[in-house]
Amino acid sequence: MSIVISSVKEMHRLSSELKRANNKIGFVPTMGYLHEGHISLIRASKRKSDATVVSIFVNPIQFAPNEDFNKYPRDFNRDKKMLQSEGVDAIFYPSSSEIYPENFQTYVTVEKISQILEGTFRPAHFKGVTTIVNILFNCVKPDIVFFGQKDAQQAAIIKQMIADLKMDIEISIEPIVREQDGLAMSSRNIYLNEKERRDALVLYNSLCLAEKLINSGERNKERIVTEMQLIINSVESSKIDYIEIVEQTTFSISNTLERGKSYYVLVACWIGTTRLIDNILVTI
Ligand code: AMP
Repeated sequence: MSIVISSVKEMHRLSSELKRANNKIGFVPTMGYLHEGHISLIRASKRKSDATVVSIFVNPIQFAPNEDFNKYPRDFNRDKKMLQSEGVDAIFYPSSSEIYPENFQTYVTVEKISQILEGTFRPAHFKGVTTIVNILFNCVKPDIVFFGQKDAQQAAIIKQMIADLKMDIEISIEPIVREQDGLAMSSRNIYLNEKERRDALVLYNSLCLAEKLINSGERNKERIVTEMQLIINSVESSKIDYIEIVEQTTFSISNTLERGKSYYVLVACWIGTTRLIDNILVTI
């Protein structure tokens, strides 16, 4: 049975107890409405730790006022069943007021990497993410944490934060889980209607083309981006926010790709009124 914990005090108490009994605590932070992508993180945690804690919290401060905080899908009972059948030890499910009481005023910012790519289009987003992740780390006291490559920039930012703030936490970044046809799993895919769901495949198709071009020797970013744009712009419902190529570890933007290095090809794109992100990691 997974225990459901909604108070910070109770979470502190359980984590301390687990630690006293010498358990390595694995932690998977989520916003709920779970899918196979989340489940893969949970399975990784079960393999690499002694006790797995999963949090479900739709974090209000990482959404801008015009974004989808209110309509973000939520179904705690369904999530709880999934977590129980995975054998998760504890589910941390706090309310907004438990996390952000009235006088809350402390934020954590990772400066440079938060300002590019997603940060250009969602200026306050990563400040909200790093703040909540810090709070959750303080509540759960994990030894190892699991994040998805699906949000590659977020994972790089958390890695930077852990290093900069000298947190005694290991981070594991797990591969993207995709639907059979290649669409990256996301809680937001539920917003897509039938036609948009088909159109949304252009993201994955454009990334596959980028990988093919790179593998066949293309080293010029602009040429890769232009080919990707052609694929994405072939469906009327699409509107590209960005296509970018960054070096894997530093997240620095690369105009020409160098041998011996790994790169993320990243895309953020609207399909109708739904904003999707995806990426692929290539090693040259
Ligand atoms: P979210 O609930 O969307 O905030 O995601 C929680 C965690 O699951 C984050 O670390 C995400 O990167 C990860 N995640 C979301 N979708 C996927 C996916 N398709 N494959 C792997 N990890 C994912």
